[in-house]
Amino acid sequence: LASFSSGTNRPVYGKVGRVPVGIGRRRMRVVVTGGAGFVGSHLVDKLIARGDEVIVLDNFFTGRKDNLVHLFGNPMFELIRHDVVEPILLEVDQIYHLACPASPVHYKYNPVKTIKTNVMGTLNMLGLAKRVGARFLLTSTSEVYGDPLHHPQKETYWGNVNPIGERSCYDEGKRTAETLAMDYHRGAGVEVRIARIFNTYGPRMCLDDGRVVSNFVAQAIRKLPMTVYGDGKQTRSFQYVSDLVDGLVALMDGEHIGPFNLGNPGEFTMLELSEVVKETIDPSATIEFRPNTADDPHMRKPDISKAKELLNWEPKISLREGLPLMVGDFRQRILNEDEGKGA
Ligand code: NAD
Ligand code: UDP
Ligand code: UDP
Repeated sequence: LASFSSGTNRPVYGKVGRVPVGIGRRRMRVVVTGGAGFVGSHLVDKLIARGDEVIVLDNFFTGRKDNLVHLFGNPMFELIRHDVVEPILLEVDQIYHLACPASPVHYKYNPVKTIKTNVMGTLNMLGLAKRVGARFLLTSTSEVYGDPLHHPQKETYWGNVNPIGERSCYDEGKRTAETLAMDYHRGAGVEVRIARIFNTYGPRMCLDDGRVVSNFVAQAIRKLPMTVYGDGKQTRSFQYVSDLVDGLVALMDGEHIGPFNLGNPGEFTMLELSEVVKETIDPSATIEFRPNTADDPHMRKPDISKAKELLNWEPKISLREGLPLMVGDFRQRILNEDEGKGA
C-alpha cells in the first residue's frame, strides 16, 4: 500500500503506491496529532499537497472538523477521533506530535488534562515511534524559557520557569515532553526532532481562544475595544503560520535533532501590535486596558541563527504582511457566528 514496511525500521523507497509522487521523493505515511487544530491543519494541507498519506489523531478539544473538511473524501487523508493520552497502534513513517491545547485560556481550563496530554500523550507517541521505527517531531514552545532572563532567547538557554504557577501545566509539561523525547532518543534510538515554537498566528485560529492576535483581530472586526493586558509594554514576536509549517517540515526531513527555535524575530509590544491591527482592519479601533495574567513573560524574541544555519530556514512573512492574510477568514467566521445567533 503505502511506503511503510512493517518489520524493518526503514520506510520503503522507490515504487510505492497508487498515486505517483514527484521523482526522487517517496510517499510517506505521516501521523499528525492535533491535526484538527490551527497549526496542525495547515501542516496537514502541506503534507497532502506534496503527496504524503496523512492520518490525523485529534480529540477535538480545541480543534475543529471545519479545519479539515476540505480533505474529507480524499483517499490520502484519514481523521481518527482519538485522545493521545490513550495508547494506539498504527504503522507509520513519521509522527508530528502537536496535540496539546496551546492558548493560555485553553491550557489552564483543565491543567491536569494539559499535563496528562503533554506527558502521557508524548510517551504514547514516542512508544509508537519506537515500535514502528518512525521519526518523531515534538512541537515544544518558547514557553520553556519561562519569563526569560536572556534576550533574545537562544536554544542553549535553560529558562526561568515557575514550577508551581498557573502556566506550569503547559511550560513544565512541554519541558517534560522534551525530556521524554531525548530519553527515547538516547535510550531507544528513536529519531527525534524538537521545535520550540514562538507565538504564531493566521487563518483558522480559534476566534475566542484568548490569544492576543486572535483577540485583537476579532475585537477590531466586531468594533469592540482591543483589550491590552497590563501596561501593554510586554513584547512578543509573531510568526505567520505558513512560515512555521515550512520550518516544521524542514526540521522533520533534515538531519538535526534540535531543539530549534521556530519564530519570527520581529519584536512588538502589545501596544504596537494594537496599532498594526488598527492600521490593517479599522483606523477607528480603540484600546482598553485590563489587568495582566499571572506569570506573564515580560519579553520574548527568538534567536533563530541555529535554524538559519542548519535548516536553511527563516520566516518570510512580516507581521504587516501576515495580518491581512487572516482577516478574511476571521470576518467570514464572525459573520457565520452572528448569523447562527440570528443577528
Ligand atoms: P490548537 O489548540 O489549535 O491545536 C491543538 C490540537 O490538539 C487541537 O486540535 C486539539 O483538539 C488537539 N488536542 C488537544 N489535546 C489533545 C489530546 N489529549 N488528544 C488528541 N488531541 C488533542 O493549537 P495550535 O496553535 O495549533 O498548537 C499546536 C501545537 O503547537 C501545540 O502543541 C502547541 O503547544 C504548539 N505551539 C503553538 C504555538 C502557537 O502560537 N500557535 C506556540 C508554541 C507552541
Ligand atoms: N504505545 C502506543 N502505541 C504503540 C507502542 C506503544 O500507544 O504502538 C504506548 C504504550 O502503551 C506505552 C507507551 O506508548 O504506554 C510507551 O511505550 P514503550 O514501549 O516505550 O514503554 P512500555 O510499554 O514498555 O512502558
Ligand atoms: N494579551 C493582551 N490582550 C489580550 C490577550 C493577551 O494584551 O487580549 C497579552 C498577554 O498578556 C501576553 C501577550 O498578549 O503578554 C501574549 O499573550 P498570548 O496569550 O497571545 O500568548 P503567550 O505568549 O502569553 O502564550
